[in-house]
Amino acid sequence: MIITDTHTHLYSDQFNEDRNEMMQRALDAGVARFFIPAIDSTYLPAMLDLEKSFPNNTFLMMGLHPTHVKENVEEELAFVKKWLDKHNFYAVGEIGIDLFWDKTFLKQQQQAFKTQIQWAKEKNLPIIIHCRDAFDEIFEVLEEVKDDKLFGIFHCFTGTLEQAKKAISYNMKLGIGGVVTFKNGKIDQFLNEIPIENIVLETDAPYLAPTPFRGKRNESSYITKVLDKLVAIYGLSPQEIAAITTQNSKEVFGI
Ligand SMILES: [Zn+2]
Repeated sequence: MIITDTHTHLYSDQFNEDRNEMMQRALDAGVARFFIPAIDSTYLPAMLDLEKSFPNNTFLMMGLHPTHVKENVEEELAFVKKWLDKHNFYAVGEIGIDLFWDKTFLKQQQQAFKTQIQWAKEKNLPIIIHCRDAFDEIFEVLEEVKDDKLFGIFHCFTGTLEQAKKAISYNMKLGIGGVVTFKNGKIDQFLNEIPIENIVLETDAPYLAPTPFRGKRNESSYITKVLDKLVAIYGLSPQEIAAITTQNSKEVFGI
């Protein structure tokens, strides 16, 4: 059984004490493919170290995270572009709009999102969308840029059935993680109405640990809790869920 974690921040400081053990637990659980989202320029050295340590299992992305769009957005975007041109990345992400923490830079977030979508299209790469309190703003951009070169993943999807269908209509798969195991997570109520061909698994480690680890540090091995929940929702075996969602991830990332 091969499980794919399509969104995990394995380079996070929170794993500095026990990264190798944490990776081993994930590999032992059957998680063999880890897709690694970028945040901003300060994290790249740690990402490149990770790639060197686990070259067969980790696949890096490049992008500027919306909560890190600040006064220096132009410099940060130039950094993203420079690295997209000189290193092999498997997606542009995570990118998007986040209005939960701060609305000050909404205009810059929208512009940075559009610019990075354009770069993804030029390189035939998927985009990985981060959306928090910003469904309308995200869909407004996607409506503007949609074409057959637009595809990717709506990471940590937490919307309604209607929003799920809308995301899929823009060629996005839904990244399903710990929230699906939460009592009040809501998405477990309608997910069976979404064909599993549109679903990929993720942890967003070290954030958003699934039940029964909710509130603790998350790690990629906990993705089995998400998988178990999808077994219950779709009535398929763990092997089938792992195989289908891994296949879906290959369609997105091309590997
Ligand atoms: Zn993330």
